[in-house]
Amino acid sequence: MSKARVATEWLMVCSGCHISLLDIHEAILDVLAKADIVRSPVLADVKEFVPADVGIITGGIRNEHNIHVAKEMRKNCKIIVALGSCACFGGTPGLANMYTNEDIFKTVYTDCMGVDNPLGREPRDDVPPLTEKVTPLSSVIDVDVIVPGCPPVPELIATGVMSLLEGKPLDLPNQSVCEPCPREKDHTKITELKRWYRSAGEELDPDRCFLEQGYVCVGPVTWGLCDARCTKVGVPCRGCHGPLNPDPEKGTDPGQDTTSFLGTLASQVPMEEVLEAMGNDPISILYQHQYPYSNLGKLKERKE
Ligand code: SF4
Ligand code: SF4
Ligand code: SF4
Repeated sequence: MSKARVATEWLMVCSGCHISLLDIHEAILDVLAKADIVRSPVLADVKEFVPADVGIITGGIRNEHNIHVAKEMRKNCKIIVALGSCACFGGTPGLANMYTNEDIFKTVYTDCMGVDNPLGREPRDDVPPLTEKVTPLSSVIDVDVIVPGCPPVPELIATGVMSLLEGKPLDLPNQSVCEPCPREKDHTKITELKRWYRSAGEELDPDRCFLEQGYVCVGPVTWGLCDARCTKVGVPCRGCHGPLNPDPEKGTDPGQDTTSFLGTLASQVPMEEVLEAMGNDPISILYQHQYPYSNLGKLKERKE
């Protein structure tokens, strides 16, 4: 049987998702037994696009070149996989959508501490123009499969890629991070919320739910595809595998869902304390990996 042709591309990325492809360790042998990598700019300097059965794209859309590359991949690949939360939901770079491009250029190239740029020059020539907003891959091309995570856990990548190569449906569990999380919950009301970096470690019960100990954990509204790997090693979930039941048509709002369960669990905690526990930056905590994909992010877009 001939091998499947696999192409990869990266758009607006930190490169972590592509590195995670290598973290599948020996599972790469199973992948390579069934697939030939026919194009991968991370491995070789290639400019042309070639036909492929599966195209794996990491990263979201931040500039005009990203749009061109995404469209070329769509034209050349039978199946497009959005790998990682930047590609699926806009990812952490999507938090930039709280600001205009003018604000961002001014902050980065003029106002930022340590920048010495008296003429206020900005690198706008000979680089691809920025899009107005950061958006997920699905905003410019049809996407067939999403594999979220920042980066996706290697087991998920290996399962996802092998399912595609074997022509099997990718059956992902419909569960939040709380399900695999072993921390004990006794459904008590929260009477106090604390900032993680200030007090973690002081009085932390290693076995009890973070939320019930007063630390914001967004596990209840996050797609549990990672086997709760952060909470198992003592760190609250920050939502990197994206919203539970993502639905681009109906929209999704993990921040609103978190606010609603915090409202129930922590009804006795003053609002100032809730905001302080989130560093007075609730959007960065509640929408850390999916702001452009969320109803709140889209609402802001519509208002502008
Ligand atoms: S999803 Fe995370 S690891 Fe992947 S490219 Fe985006 S920021 Fe990097
Ligand atoms: S809220 Fe966080 S710590 Fe608590 S059970 Fe859910 S994932 Fe675990
Ligand atoms: S526990 Fe949360 S932040 Fe950690 S890997 Fe899983 S989804 Fe991502």
